[in-house]
Amino acid sequence: MRVLIVEDEVRLAATVQDLLELNGYTADVCHDGESGLDNALTGIYDVVLLDVMLPKLDGFSVLRRLRAEGSATPVLMLTARSEVTDKVEGLDCGADYYLTKPFEPRELLACIRALTRRQPEIRSTDAMEYSDLRLEKSSFTLFCGQRSVRLSRKEYDMMELLMLNRELVLTKETLLLKIWGYESDAEDNNVEVYISFLRRKLTHLHSRVRIRTIRMVGYCLETAGE
Ligand code: CA
Repeated sequence: MRVLIVEDEVRLAATVQDLLELNGYTADVCHDGESGLDNALTGIYDVVLLDVMLPKLDGFSVLRRLRAEGSATPVLMLTARSEVTDKVEGLDCGADYYLTKPFEPRELLACIRALTRRQPEIRSTDAMEYSDLRLEKSSFTLFCGQRSVRLSRKEYDMMELLMLNRELVLTKETLLLKIWGYESDAEDNNVEVYISFLRRKLTHLHSRVRIRTIRMVGYCLETAGE
């Protein structure tokens, strides 16, 4: 596993690098946004740790450019506690997770493990996995262990979008556009209705996965007990 650390606080970057190397990772460090972006774009990293306040190019711009170039490398953003309000902006730019400084080494390691594990595994073109769930396209069926449930077309589309985006927040507007399309006169209410259908099915499956509501923003998946 190879981790890129983009952090201008030299001592913090070195501490994190030591921590990761002690735990079996290969870790490279960049101290500014431009070189961070160049390195991240090589595609050789399994995870990028990205500070927000950086010289030359800030973390949000790095992330936006990275996603615009089609990179799907998981990005863990690091930010000072005072910048917590930036969280939504970070998630909107395509961050996979947020950690506020100062953080515990164990917390950082757990996040990195989670991010490298949570890449949606597409075993065949037919099925997708997230946590204890498996979504099968040919049968529109959602599996959790021995249990399974059939989904309607719209429920399937919504679940697929949520699983593809993992812990990223999907806004109601995005769900409406992607599932109902521009032409439709569907409203936010439709999204809420289908979210409630899916929640019922997740409960029925005894899944650890929950659909979390981010007030005034949208929805994302989370796994209970993590
Ligand atoms: Ca900084």
